[in-house]
Amino acid sequence: MWVTKHASSFEDLTPEDIVQVNVTGSSSFDAHASIETVVHRQIYLETRNLAVLHAHPPNTVALSFFHGEITPIDTESHYKLKKIPVVEGSPGTRELAKVVAEAMKKNYAVAVRAHGVFASAKHLDEAYRYICMVEHAAHIIYLTENLRGARLKFIKPKKF
Ligand SMILES: [Zn+2]
Repeated sequence: MWVTKHASSFEDLTPEDIVQVNVTGSSSFDAHASIETVVHRQIYLETRNLAVLHAHPPNTVALSFFHGEITPIDTESHYKLKKIPVVEGSPGTRELAKVVAEAMKKNYAVAVRAHGVFASAKHLDEAYRYICMVEHAAHIIYLTENLRGARLKFIKPKKF
């Protein structure tokens, strides 16, 4: 499998930032790869997906402190994602890999409390859309909760 190097970022990714590691088990090449290689590997092993993305979107991370699962309230995210489970685990551990991969079997994306989000799909562009959709959903919830705190009258849509 192909994975980004440790501490690389989407914004300035180059071909040199991608390394090949074994999908069935760890090897010495893992030392150069992202700390979350173990999570990516477990998702590939437990789902039929061919692309996994991981990011640290701020609204999603903030909501992860308050929810066991995030339920999108905006129409698009609500229809597509239904819910985003929130799991726990230390970065780069087998424990995190297991809980994320298990939750990923039935969801497009999984949030990790105080950390970030994983999304997986058949293709990379689709996984990227899910990452963006999760953060958009979290941003809408964040804004809505803040407006509710301003004592405005909340109008729930009659139907989605
Ligand atoms: Zn991370």
